[in-house]
Amino acid sequence: MKHNIPMQEKLNKLLEEQNKNYLSNTKNSFTKHKTATKVMPGGNTRTTQWMDPYPFFVDKAEGMYIYDIDENKYLDFMLNATTLILGHANPKIMSALANQINDGTVYSVPTDGQTKLANILVDRIPSMEKVRFTNSGTEATMMAIMAARSFTKKTKIAKFEGGYHGTHEHVSVSVYPKKDDLNPETHPGVPEYSYQPPSVLEDVIVLPYNDKDKCETLITKFKNDLSCIIMEPIVSNFGYLPLDIDFLEFIRNITEELGIVLIFDEIQSFRVSKGGAQETFGITPDMTTLGKIIGGGLPAAAFGGRDKIMSYLSPEGPVYQAGTLSGNPIAMNAGYTTLKYIEKPGFFEKLHLQSEKLMLEMKKIASKNKIPFEVVFEGGMFGFSFTENGPIKNYNDIANSETSLFKEFFHSMLKENIYFAPSAFEAGFMSSEHTEREIDSTLSAVEKVFKKISKKSI
Ligand code: PLP
Repeated sequence: MKHNIPMQEKLNKLLEEQNKNYLSNTKNSFTKHKTATKVMPGGNTRTTQWMDPYPFFVDKAEGMYIYDIDENKYLDFMLNATTLILGHANPKIMSALANQINDGTVYSVPTDGQTKLANILVDRIPSMEKVRFTNSGTEATMMAIMAARSFTKKTKIAKFEGGYHGTHEHVSVSVYPKKDDLNPETHPGVPEYSYQPPSVLEDVIVLPYNDKDKCETLITKFKNDLSCIIMEPIVSNFGYLPLDIDFLEFIRNITEELGIVLIFDEIQSFRVSKGGAQETFGITPDMTTLGKIIGGGLPAAAFGGRDKIMSYLSPEGPVYQAGTLSGNPIAMNAGYTTLKYIEKPGFFEKLHLQSEKLMLEMKKIASKNKIPFEVVFEGGMFGFSFTENGPIKNYNDIANSETSLFKEFFHSMLKENIYFAPSAFEAGFMSSEHTEREIDSTLSAVEKVFKKISKKSI
């Protein structure tokens, strides 16, 4: 979307004002950030904690609110990137942690907590006959791919352009390719960092979302070498775009036919229903990776799938998997407590209705103010983009959408004490703690902000 000069100038001016305002409201955070940059690149320990011009520092959090060290209170729609489905410092989680912590935090032998959490996952997730826990989603996708390679006796993997599956080597291809590196005909694998070994790119086939013909050509071409396809059924990098069932069915059928393991990365989408997006869409992959909510706010992730694939893991099979803190009883207890809580009837429906209300009402307000705006939502996950090109369907659409309105929107909402995701590729999440009252106050803030950034107001 191209803005005319007065509009672009207005946006630049508004953003400049926002930055000044942010700096004056977050002076303590600025000082802490400066100190932190001396010992950590960017002043933090994960790129996802970054926001322009610097992130605020947290004092404490409770329910749906975060309090920063400058005494600002934010309504949190970020929830540590989907993780906190029961909100911050949920009393049930706190007491589960307290019950375990006096008995020790981790042992080099198993606890029943692992089996209890594993049982819930196996019961609820259609594809999951056996499961293993890891500390992070990155490890989970890495291990699922290793198991798939060993099982199929093939080495290449396929992933989608713009798909994010953590930061290990083979999924770090074509995650955020730049517009100029894209080729809508050939979809070359684009390295994620300088000097990424070319051998990695040779082993990763990049597929375009929602393009059956191209996918069929590429998958068929590499069928003898392809061990697995890894994909999200709801694409987080595209603002939570649920994929067409038709497309998912096509991928399911072709992988089954050609002996390729289909891995659903449900690290985020597991929060849309008791059995994840695979249950919602009625499509069962061979393997699934999980993270975020399954640790209840502590580090836990998992990968699992059909028994005959999982039996390739040691000690039953040749694939060695470990992780000093994997399956620690604190994270297992927090995860178990979370998953028991969300089985309450109506839990997911309430989150879905709240996302629906927020997104549809925002779309109405945008249209009233002549702001080009697209929304998606599924369960308690929602996304939106400022685009004139209609609904996002693939990475090319994302790469060609324009982000200056989003930046302005994000900072204006922060000024209204509402914290959405600070990236144009995603947006926000509901927790059990969000109520109608917060949705309504968010909509009032949106009304104010959209009016300000509308073209009509130039
Ligand atoms: N896969 C998806 C879809 C994710 O959203 C993430 C994290 O945001 C990961 C994998 C990696 O998980 P982690 O950050 O726990 O390593």
